[in-house]
Amino acid sequence: MSHELTTGPLWTGDYYNEGSGKEGLDKLKEECGVFGVFRHPDAASLSYYGLHALQHRGEESAGMCVSDGSQFNYHRGMGLVKEVFTKDLMQTLTGDISIGHVRYSTSGDSKLTNAQPLVFKYRDGDLAVATNGNIVNAPTIRRELEQSGSIFQTTSDTEVIAHLIARSSKGLVEAAKEAFQRIVGGYAFLIMTNDKLLVASDPHGLRPLTMGKLGDAYLFASETCALETIGAELIRDIEPGELLVLDADGLHEDRFDHHKHRKALCAMEYIYFARPDSDMNGTNQHAARKRMGSRMAIESFVDADLVTGVPDSSISAAIGYAEQTGIPYEMGMIKNKYTGRTFIQPSQELREQGVKMKLSAVRRVVEGKRVVMIDDSIVRGTTSRRIVNMLRDAGATEVHVRITSPPFKNPCFYGIDTPDSRELIASQLSVEEICREINADSLEFLSPDGLIASIQGDNQDDPKGGLCLACFDHDYPTRLDFGGEEKFGCSC
Ligand code: SF4
Repeated sequence: MSHELTTGPLWTGDYYNEGSGKEGLDKLKEECGVFGVFRHPDAASLSYYGLHALQHRGEESAGMCVSDGSQFNYHRGMGLVKEVFTKDLMQTLTGDISIGHVRYSTSGDSKLTNAQPLVFKYRDGDLAVATNGNIVNAPTIRRELEQSGSIFQTTSDTEVIAHLIARSSKGLVEAAKEAFQRIVGGYAFLIMTNDKLLVASDPHGLRPLTMGKLGDAYLFASETCALETIGAELIRDIEPGELLVLDADGLHEDRFDHHKHRKALCAMEYIYFARPDSDMNGTNQHAARKRMGSRMAIESFVDADLVTGVPDSSISAAIGYAEQTGIPYEMGMIKNKYTGRTFIQPSQELREQGVKMKLSAVRRVVEGKRVVMIDDSIVRGTTSRRIVNMLRDAGATEVHVRITSPPFKNPCFYGIDTPDSRELIASQLSVEEICREINADSLEFLSPDGLIASIQGDNQDDPKGGLCLACFDHDYPTRLDFGGEEKFGCSC
């Protein structure tokens, strides 16, 4: 028996700015952030502050769905959390269970219809779904569902899980287990009905998801910084393959996957994505990045007058490099924090004339100096070349680039928006060639062993340290062969 889903008008407002980061910079894009609340009378306000703390994971849209036990109150919109949720609107989001989402979209796909949570009507009431990650075999499942009559409302893969649940003849929890057993990928899911919350992490734990408590209420967040923001106590990370069910009887710890897979939390969370004040697997991000910088100094020391880090994500590593070498850390670059969302971006011509909206070199600091520039990754190489040239234009006599990750050679299938390998400079050129391409005096990357040791310390039980390193070593933790229909990037 099939149970079709229906969607109503799920959002209001039409505000949309093209996000920054699209004016030719080639950083990897953060994926999405999720935040869930179970049984707190002010679920919407907690979600607002939680999502605000997760804003760095997605700036294009934000959404929240709250249940008062009998009906959903929800809103989604394009823009930042503070733009999407006005004071008046927040007063309409009453209830004590909620799921929320912030999102970056993949290119060409920044549509409001894909903003989350997605909300559906199904046979047992209302269903809302929010996810962070990517379902690799979504195209295959979607085609099968469409051939058997399902009508999709969005291009988001998140809808696949809703259809799988809706078409099952089993109850919600068993239907969700079946659905998770069917999908392959890296994901953290929050699924809400009028009186239940389901929380799941993929069998390898690729995407981060953590649980906290505030009084008797349970909280779930992509990063611990969101729990910290609202004063919640951190309980633990959600385990790979785990399915938590929260209902009137409280928390039930269950699993949808009983096989033993290797744990593979995304290494890029530690290198770049997560906020420095977040902890994952018990490791603080700032501390891990400092160790990466320190290890980088041991692996590839270069004599220089100062160390500087590309703000903001590489500052911790630059401090680590400086501490290890004794070369002073200086603020050689400044990031303009107010370029986040703007209607006006400089034209190519103005950019070539030197209009810099995001990043500036501090001439008085770098002029006449030999500079070690720490960055977290090189994707296409265009940003690195621009930054090196910017430091040279400001008077740096030498620029030595140190990257606190191994060469990024392979696309991500688990929720990070990456170009395909032909556009990844490290898959096309040698380190020496990249060095010339970005106009640096020297270039070195952190070794895989150095990266693992920096994140996991002395825990050498697993040679990969419980991490996914596939974009560096091509060892993808899941199968990817779905008849050429597999999908990479981000589907949240
Ligand atoms: S392939 Fe790279 S970016 Fe993707 S989950 Fe693995 S480590 Fe993270």
